[in-house]
Formats: sequence, C-alpha cells, structure tokens
Amino acid sequence: MLIKRFVFGPVATNCYLVSCERTGQALVIDPDMRTERDLARLLNEIARLKVVLRYIVNTHHHSDHVSGNGMLKKATNAEILIHEHDGWVLPEPWQWWSKMVQADQRRPCPACGGASTYFDIQKDQGKAILGCRTCGFKFEIFASPPADRLLHHGDMVVVGQIEFVVIHTPGHSAGGICLYSSREGVLFSGDTLFKGTVGRTDMFDASTEEIVRSVRELAKLPEETLVYPGHGETTTIREEKINNPYLQN
Ligand SMILES: [Zn+2]
Ligand SMILES: [Zn+2]
Ligand SMILES: [Zn+2]
Repeated sequence: MLIKRFVFGPVATNCYLVSCERTGQALVIDPDMRTERDLARLLNEIARLKVVLRYIVNTHHHSDHVSGNGMLKKATNAEILIHEHDGWVLPEPWQWWSKMVQADQRRPCPACGGASTYFDIQKDQGKAILGCRTCGFKFEIFASPPADRLLHHGDMVVVGQIEFVVIHTPGHSAGGICLYSSREGVLFSGDTLFKGTVGRTDMFDASTEEIVRSVRELAKLPEETLVYPGHGETTTIREEKINNPYLQN
C-alpha cells in the first residue's frame, strides 16, 4: 500500500491518495481541491503511479472534505462513498448550513468576530457563500454529486488487495467514519481523532459525548496503528493514549 498526502483548500485539509501497487487500483479520501491547479496535482500523481481511481471516500459531509468530489468524479468517474447519515448533505450542503445558521444566529465572523454574517445560496451554480459584511471574509461551500454508495458500520471498502473496514464514529458529525485496515495497521480518522485532540462538536448534528465514546472505541485498536487524520500530522494510537486528553480517564 502506498499513501500520498496532499493538503488542499482554505482550512488545510489532508487529502489522501491510497493505492494498491500490486493491482494498480486506488482510492482518494476527502478531496478539497477547489482549483484546476489543485486538481491537476492530484491527477498528475494518479497518472505518475499508473493507478485507476475507484473510489472517493468522504469521512464526513463537511465542505472542507467534499468540495473536490465534483471535479474529481468528472475527471475519473470514481464512485463517491459516504456514511448513510451524512449522504443527504452532499448534493445540497446549504440545507445543512441553513440549519447551522438558524440554530446559532449570533455566530460571529470567523475572521473578524463581527456579527454581520450572511449566507447566500446560489443553487444554479451549485454553491453557497458564507460571508461577512464587516470585513469581506468569504467561505464557499460547493455541492457534490450524490453518493454512489452509502456506507454502514462494518462495511468493507476494498481497493485491489487492500481491505478497509468502516468504523462509524459519530460526534463531529452524525455520519462520521474512520477507515481501518488491520493488515496494513493504518486508520484514516477524518475529523474524529487528531494528534492531541478531537474534532469540534459545536455544530447541530455534533455531540461531545458521542465523540468521546467514538475515540475511546478507536483507542482499543492495536497501539502501533498509524493514524492519518483529516487535518494536521500523522500519529499513532499509542501516542494518543499517552497524550490526548480525551483518551484519559
Ligand atoms: Zn469536519
Ligand atoms: Zn475538516
Ligand atoms: Zn468579518
């Protein structure tokens, strides 16, 4: 197995290209390319490795993990896979964002802290903009094609000779998943488990109780398991059991 990490998008999201060298098949986890240039970086690597992209797997529905789905599917015809509880957000992400905005009217601008944020849905262009009238901050949310396959806890995602089991890890979103391969000793943990912390839980479909339960389940995996998170550096289960405050009793 070969793992190549890219960092794409406005909040530095890890995108992983995972390939089986023996069979020339590959999958991509959490693509957040928003430009032709970023798309080309990924496609060039796929071409250089001479692999065929079978799947695009989203660890959860957040826009920083799915905004490249559309352009990547168009270029490769790979299938989009996401957990059944998060799949509904892909084609109309503004539905989820509208619930967020309604649930928390006073959410300040992430850039300047000002209160005059707006939410502009441009359905015909397949995107929405979260912006600030005070400082001009803008965050674009892109719609994705719908899922080709909905995942459930315990499902297998097979790419060549590499087998991943889907672990449902709710908490950061309702349908957050991790992909685990016991034979390879690797876990792709999305925004559930990070080096030293866990994903945020201040969204309407998130839960601190659930994410703590989820990461404590992950802590039962072999200690030498390599953890590849959705943001930041790689870690191990052992290191997290020692240093991560959410894994302490
Ligand atoms: Zn997230
Ligand atoms: Zn993220
Ligand atoms: Zn602002």
